[in-house]
Amino acid sequence: MDYLPLFFKLENRIALLVGGGQVALRKATLLTRAGAKVTVVAHVVEAELAELVEKNGGQVIIGEYHPALLDDANLVVAATDDEQLNERVHYDAVERHLPVNVVDSPPLCTFIFPAIVDRSPIVIAISSGGESPVLARLLRAKLETWIPQGYSRLGKLVGRYRQQVKDSFPSVERRRIFWEKILQGQVAEKVFAGRDQDADKLLQTALDNADPEHQVGEVYLVGGGPGDPELLTFKALRLMQQADIVLHDQLVSPEVVDLCRRDADRIFVGKRRDNHAVPQEGINELLVKYAKEGKRVLRLKGGDPFVFGRGGEELETLKQHNIPFQVVPGITAASACSTYAGIPLTHRNYAQSVKLVTGQLKNRSSDLNFNELIHPNQTIVFYMGLHTVGHLCEQLIAHGKPAETPAAIVSRGTRPEQEVLTGTLETLAELQEQAQLAAPALIIVGEVVNLHKDLAWFGEDVLQNHGLVLPDAGLSS
Ligand code: SAH
Repeated sequence: MDYLPLFFKLENRIALLVGGGQVALRKATLLTRAGAKVTVVAHVVEAELAELVEKNGGQVIIGEYHPALLDDANLVVAATDDEQLNERVHYDAVERHLPVNVVDSPPLCTFIFPAIVDRSPIVIAISSGGESPVLARLLRAKLETWIPQGYSRLGKLVGRYRQQVKDSFPSVERRRIFWEKILQGQVAEKVFAGRDQDADKLLQTALDNADPEHQVGEVYLVGGGPGDPELLTFKALRLMQQADIVLHDQLVSPEVVDLCRRDADRIFVGKRRDNHAVPQEGINELLVKYAKEGKRVLRLKGGDPFVFGRGGEELETLKQHNIPFQVVPGITAASACSTYAGIPLTHRNYAQSVKLVTGQLKNRSSDLNFNELIHPNQTIVFYMGLHTVGHLCEQLIAHGKPAETPAAIVSRGTRPEQEVLTGTLETLAELQEQAQLAAPALIIVGEVVNLHKDLAWFGEDVLQNHGLVLPDAGLSS
């Protein structure tokens, strides 16, 4: 960050503006909007500028700039086309430790004017650090269309109730929860619909009925998707940004965790495979404990919470304790990894059904029904199967699935490190032995794997890029 964005209180303060043309007029417009008294100095001052300045209690000086003018100023803007003069103003201001802006000359600025979206009291400032004002303006145009004018009235409404809410809820946390409900609920809707009086009444009623002591918490069980943060749902993101505390595990990528509210407490509860930082029962207890303290607890899980995610168990515990919850689905690894690897899970010609299967062995033996998995024209996706890939492939062959059936491993799917290894049931385990792709990884078995060569658009194919040799050259996929 090259510049720290700050908001400057200029009401009734003097801003010295050197220059009397159109550019100066634009700056004067902004400065007076913030309540500044502008002193303009130039040999020629355009009529419109002079009028604006005088109307707002400022002063127009026709004549030469001189440093004594800086004595009363709180901020200085040079907007002349005389480079030497601009430079003089800059050095005089810096000498006096005054913030100075020289229009169109970033090296001579100690502050810059951002592009502004004005929904006062809400004000959004966008800066490109002087690198590309046009880009900042384009962004501003986007925000202008995205943020309704109603935000201004909503901001003012909140301002009117601020003290009353503060008196009713002594704790900062309770206040925040109250405001978040108000600003995302009916009150805001009414304001946006132009029905400010209704909004006012609703807000007063909410305040009258609020119990500041006994706030019940809530748990959000949210699927964080497979890793790429852009695969989050809007709902997931909204809840992530309002939760007070986050419990996440290994599968959730750091980029996704980063999108949670900045000041939310984060608790890491899970490691890979059998090595849990907090056992499942412990996680259930933590969810109950924090919710009972009145917190909004985010249980953030990789992929979808109900696909090999033990989400069901967590909800049962919440139900037992009468704790309200919301569940948000996420994109599960099978869907995400297959898409990013160019392997359609179904295909008119090759697969009419998909099976999602756990590859984890209980007590070193699998209780999977392999007879069901060997049917032709279906795709099988093994979760948690990286360490048992040899066993799974062997068993499929032993139960009658052709050894040359295409099979793939997708490692760290959708993340920048995604890798795809393709082979057959016969070759895959040995290829993985050489390639050592990292967890988390999915195994996909079925004819659709062959489409990877043509449809892949993301991530590396290990076979091609690392020059791996197929153990059995005759059985290439
Ligand atoms: N609830 C999760 C699955 C949890 S089980 C979901 O819906 O995706 C954990 C297994 O998911 C891992 O062993 C791996 O097989 C798979 N997995 C999760 N994220 C993955 C990713 N980004 N790439 C490949 N496999 C992934």
